[in-house]
Amino acid sequence: NAKILAGKRGIVFGVANNKSIAWACAQMCAEQGAELAFNFLGDAQEKRVRELVKDLPNAIVMPCDVTKDEQIEAFYTEIQKQWDMVDFIIHSVAFTEKENLKDKFMVVTRESFASTMDISAYSLLAVTRAALPLMKKGGSVITMSYYGAEKVVPRYNVMGVAKAALESCAKYLAYDLGEIGIRVNAISAGPIRTLSSSAIPGIKEMLENSQKHSPLKRNVTTEDVARSALYLLSDLGSGVTGEVLHVDCGYNTLGMFSSVES
Ligand code: NAD
Repeated sequence: NAKILAGKRGIVFGVANNKSIAWACAQMCAEQGAELAFNFLGDAQEKRVRELVKDLPNAIVMPCDVTKDEQIEAFYTEIQKQWDMVDFIIHSVAFTEKENLKDKFMVVTRESFASTMDISAYSLLAVTRAALPLMKKGGSVITMSYYGAEKVVPRYNVMGVAKAALESCAKYLAYDLGEIGIRVNAISAGPIRTLSSSAIPGIKEMLENSQKHSPLKRNVTTEDVARSALYLLSDLGSGVTGEVLHVDCGYNTLGMFSSVES
């Protein structure tokens, strides 16, 4: 039983704790033979990430705020000292102020709109471009999106606009990088309870709705997302790029909710 990612090296942006989507992806990649490098943001997160990765072989842990070009540069300079190649990137990062998720979309300020876009969409481009000198043999990049990119999800607001930009960034990057053998894809995950999603006042409703109405009649887990991530990151997804893969128990396929209860 050969491991799917044996001999591959990947970078994981966005492990906050053991509930993070990025952590489930990282664990699955490690089980499949990958060596991993992780970023953190601040002292508290550093402690949590170091504790989580302590049993992973040769894990690298380093600071990186994805809104700071000099930190991204320092991050990759350090990686380059230890690795001569990078095969894949998991981008699982987003942020907006809580106030933006409460009420109407239109109340978002210019500054807050710009910073949400910067952290949640532009950062995909920033961390991918900086990795290119190390992605010498092609590779695979994935990012995490949500259905609020495609349709209005009340109270998801500016985050939905940022996810629309993120999905578009993934497609444009896929076009730019296709000729050097780098694939870029997004996973549109159904709602999951994590540190970030607990800041969305509508999360309970989103979870209830998707459990009740999804074709699979349940919510997705971070493991569901990680399995699909493995497909996109490995050679199993070799012909797939610029794609938004819904890992949402089928929720996005519905045109309306059925009144027939099962
Ligand atoms: P999480 O809180 O575990 O992860 C979010 C991560 O973003 C954290 O590690 C945080 O440190 C990082 N981050 C924020 N600002 C940063 C910055 N400036 N620099 C570097 N890192 C920064 O939550 P999660 O739910 O695992 O979210 C991961 C991704 O999945 C996000 O893009 C989120 O929008 C997306 N997503 C989540 C859900 C869900 O329901 N949980 C559904 C679909 C998509």
